[in-house]
Amino acid sequence: MAFHPLHVIIAGGGLAGLTAAHGLLRAGHTVDVYERHDTVEHRQGYYLHVNPMGGDALERCLPEDLFRLYQATSRVNYVRTGSIVRDEQLHELSSQPPLIPPKEGPFPDTGVHRRQLRQILMARLDDVYHAGLGVASFAQDDAGVTVTLSDGTEVRGDVLVGADGINSAVRRQLLPDVQVVRTGIDGIGIFGRTIITEELQAQLPALLDEGVQMIVDRHGSRLLAATYRPRRPADEACAEIAPDVPLEPVEPYIMASCSVPPGTEIPPAEEWTLETAERIRDAMLAAIDGWHPATRAIIAAMDVPSMFAVPFGFLDPAESWEPSRVTIIGDSAHAMLPTLGMGANVSLNDAAVLVDRLAEVGRGERPLEDAIGAYEAEMRATAYPILRMASHHDENFGGGALVDLAHAEPTA
Ligand SMILES: Cc1cc2nc3c(=O)[nH]c(=O)nc-3n(C[C@H](O)[C@H](O)[C@H](O)COP(=O)(O)OP(=O)(O)OC[C@H]3O[C@@H](n4cnc5c(N)ncnc54)[C@H](O)[C@@H]3O)c2cc1C
Repeated sequence: MAFHPLHVIIAGGGLAGLTAAHGLLRAGHTVDVYERHDTVEHRQGYYLHVNPMGGDALERCLPEDLFRLYQATSRVNYVRTGSIVRDEQLHELSSQPPLIPPKEGPFPDTGVHRRQLRQILMARLDDVYHAGLGVASFAQDDAGVTVTLSDGTEVRGDVLVGADGINSAVRRQLLPDVQVVRTGIDGIGIFGRTIITEELQAQLPALLDEGVQMIVDRHGSRLLAATYRPRRPADEACAEIAPDVPLEPVEPYIMASCSVPPGTEIPPAEEWTLETAERIRDAMLAAIDGWHPATRAIIAAMDVPSMFAVPFGFLDPAESWEPSRVTIIGDSAHAMLPTLGMGANVSLNDAAVLVDRLAEVGRGERPLEDAIGAYEAEMRATAYPILRMASHHDENFGGGALVDLAHAEPTA
């Protein structure tokens, strides 16, 4: 049966937009991706936890070799798959199994260095990826969508996909009543990474490599730490699997997010200098005074230029709406707090579900708006319960970080 390709315009070249672009091309459609930034340098963190929801979506959308490159460069398996809560001397208090358990097999989905995944997703999209051009607005009619870009030019397509993140311009026009709920930084929104040098390695007890660690004390200070050790070095994996993909090398590191004492001034992200980061690193050390030496060594050796603050926010999403030629995926549809490490996984899943529905349109199996409505219904059913659960940050973060320490008994 003949395939009738759609031309799909994607606003936003983040994880969701790029994954959708690969999937749509693989299905036989054509795409153009408009990304308002001209570099991939903006800060959303280093390590990204990927589970089978995200991994399956990548497998369904990416060319086979790029998927294998993702697997090869993701982190080695942890011994324990859930998050582990410890007291400040590293005695275990509790643990929580992952929301979505890993699959069996030689390369279960684990986690990635975010920039490397982005580099894999950017591969082979040169002809369709337009950097430094944002989507400003759109107008749809019976035959298609006209999209106005940030430089004033207009482009036309059959479908517009808003993959433009929490402050999405596409969503603001499509669903103007949806609000972003700002939750601020609250200490735990400061991230950085610590390279695992031989000297640091010698100070790290093996238990810190067992899984994602949430370390807490009775005064409310918290340290989230997770090691990233790639399964294979990037150059070796590229040479064998996909030599055309330029991947930067990544040394093993610990991703860390740590409290600061109450009253510590945290300037907005755009005002940060190296001195700000040094001051905040020192404030973190003050917050964990007297903690296990390994925890202090991780913070003391933090790579100061890597530090950044994320002002957290999430959406109060629309319950439902009339499907049209314009839809939204990823954070633009359901930005959530990073509490459960699910935002990107759900975003990648959106991309794969939308690709499947639009493939049905290409094959003539269903009308366009019916297919987009089916995608949107599935997206809401999957994403919204997770969004709501993630917004209970203190109950669910790090496997229940706010365990009642007064009553908690160490288990090891
Ligand atoms: C600190 C932190 C840690 C996290 N950890 C995890 C984790 O471990 N696991 C997990 O699953 N999720 C995690 N998340 C969530 C995850 O990062 C997001 O859910 C995911 O990046 C969303 O992808 P996206 O492509 O929808 O949006 P984004 O990654 O925000 O991409 C949107 C893109 O659109 C571009 N854009 C914006 N406006 C326009 C416009 N008008 N026109 C064109 N382009 C535009 C932006 O520049 C950006 O490149 C974490 C988030 C944070 C902040």
